Amino acid sequence: MLTLLKNAIKLINYNFFATFKSLMIFIISQKKICLSSVADSLKIWFIHEMTHVWQYQLGLKNWWHGIVHGCKLDYSIEEFSKDLQHNKERAYNTDISGRDSSKNFNEFNMEQQAVIIELWFDAMYLQSYPNNKTAKHHIQGIKLQGYLMNILQKFLKNPKDKSLLPENH
Ligand SMILES: [Zn+2]
Repeated sequence: MLTLLKNAIKLINYNFFATFKSLMIFIISQKKICLSSVADSLKIWFIHEMTHVWQYQLGLKNWWHGIVHGCKLDYSIEEFSKDLQHNKERAYNTDISGRDSSKNFNEFNMEQQAVIIELWFDAMYLQSYPNNKTAKHHIQGIKLQGYLMNILQKFLKNPKDKSLLPENH
């Protein structure tokens, strides 16, 4: 029970900190410190965190979802992510060209939504080179582009639509 509680507290801090960090970078970028001068890995991370800011602004209780994931050990158990092509905590696991191919955007949890958006962003806006450490991420984004566009259709049309938020996760 104590471990569970400790994990929950860690998650609250983590989520708060993640959102806080995103906001800080956003503020910095507003002050004309251009995001284009930073590494691709940082841009990908930024877009991931901005997805959580978007979810939060639309009314998602990210902290609560974080606790639920924590209780289900989704941030503790690692699995192979087919879409990212490496091991990652279960909360982030997606397979949009296979297992998850018929899912709507709101059927993914808050972390999976952020992974989908970071892959889409990478495919659309970043250029990666073979020796770059984010090359694999970029290749996956390009490979999955059709699936990503399909899942994100409603989001790209109207990102203010609250029905896009994760349903039951
Ligand atoms: Zn996240």
